Amino acid sequence: MEEKMIRKQTREVRIGNRVIGGQNPILIQSMANTRTEDVKGTIAQIQKLTAAGCEIIRCAVPTMEAAEALADIKKGITIPLVADIHFDYRLAIAAMEHGADKIRINPGNIGSRERIQAVVDAAKERGIPIRVGVNSGSLEKELVEKYHGVTPEGLVESAMDKVHIIEGMGYDNLVISIKSSDVLMCVKAHTLISGQSDYPLHVGITESGTITSGNIKSAMGLAMILSQGIGDTIRVSLTGDPLEEIKSAKLILRTLGLRKGGIEVVSCPTCGRTQIDLIGLANQVEELVSDIDLDIKVAVMGCVVNGPGEAKEADIGIAGGVGEGLLIKHGEIYKKVKEEELLSALRHELLHWGE
Ligand code: SF4
Repeated sequence: MEEKMIRKQTREVRIGNRVIGGQNPILIQSMANTRTEDVKGTIAQIQKLTAAGCEIIRCAVPTMEAAEALADIKKGITIPLVADIHFDYRLAIAAMEHGADKIRINPGNIGSRERIQAVVDAAKERGIPIRVGVNSGSLEKELVEKYHGVTPEGLVESAMDKVHIIEGMGYDNLVISIKSSDVLMCVKAHTLISGQSDYPLHVGITESGTITSGNIKSAMGLAMILSQGIGDTIRVSLTGDPLEEIKSAKLILRTLGLRKGGIEVVSCPTCGRTQIDLIGLANQVEELVSDIDLDIKVAVMGCVVNGPGEAKEADIGIAGGVGEGLLIKHGEIYKKVKEEELLSALRHELLHWGE
C-alpha cells in the first residue's frame, strides 16, 4: 500500500491567486535571475519557469526602478510575484504599491522600529503577506554568543523574535523561512520551529551549490523536512538555470508522494548486457514524455533479455536491442518494433493511453 504523509496543519495564507498552508498543495517556488529592471527579459524567464511548473516567483528588488518594474512584470505573468527586499524599507513599500503579492524581508536588516512599522502598515493596508526570512549567515551576534555559535536554536529564536515584532504591530499575515547551507542544521531548525508556530513555512537549503551538489543537498534536506509533514512552499536553490530548480523540486515532491501527475521515467543502471546507448535513450524519453499529462511510470531498459522482467513495476516500458526493441507492459512483452521506431512507438502508446 502506498504510504501517505501526514502534513502539519499550518494557517492558510493567500499569495496573489494561490493559497498556501493548511492542506493546500506544497507549491514550487523559484527566483528569477534576470535583472528585475529588465521587464521583458524577466517576463520571458518567468513564463518559461511557469511552463516548467514554477508556481510562485521571487524577484530581487535592489532599486526603486526594480520596484516600479514589478507593475509591468505582473501584467505579463500568471503566478504570484514575491519581492525580495534587503535593507531599504522604502523599496518594500514601493514593491507593494507596484503589485507585489508578497514581500520577503529580514526585519533585522530593515532598521528602526518605525521603518518596520511603515512596511507592516503598507502590507496590512493591502493584505499582502510578509515572509520573514532568517539566514544562518546573518544570525545576530547576541544569538551567536548566547548559543555559542550558529545553532538551530539560535536561528529559531531569531525568526520567532521577528515574528513577535510584527505580531506586536498588529499583523499576522506571515510566512516564515529559515535558511542554512548546513543541511542538518536546517532540518533541526525546521523541526523546532514547526513545534513553536503554525505559520506556513517556506523551505529550502540555501547556497546549496552547483547542479550536482545542490541537487543532492536540497533533496536530502527537503526530504528530511517534508517527510516530517513540514513545509508549505519549497525552493531548490541551485547555481544554474532556474529551470533546473523546478525540475528538481517537482521530482522531490513526486518522490515523496506529495505531488501526483506527470510521467515518471525510470531507467536501468546499465550493465555489461546493455546493447544500446541507454543514457541517450533515457534522456530522449524524458524529453518525449514531458508534455504528456499522465500519472504513470515509464521504464527504459538496456537489454531485451532481462529488461522486461526488471520493468515489471512500470506501466509501460521499452527495452532496446540491436536492430530490434521491445514495448513492455507490466513486465510482459507487448510488441516488437524496429530499433529506430522504438521512440515513436512509445509516444504513440502514451498518446493513446487508456483508449
Ligand atoms: S535491464 Fe538489462 S541492461 Fe539494464 S541493468 Fe538489467 S540486465 Fe543490465
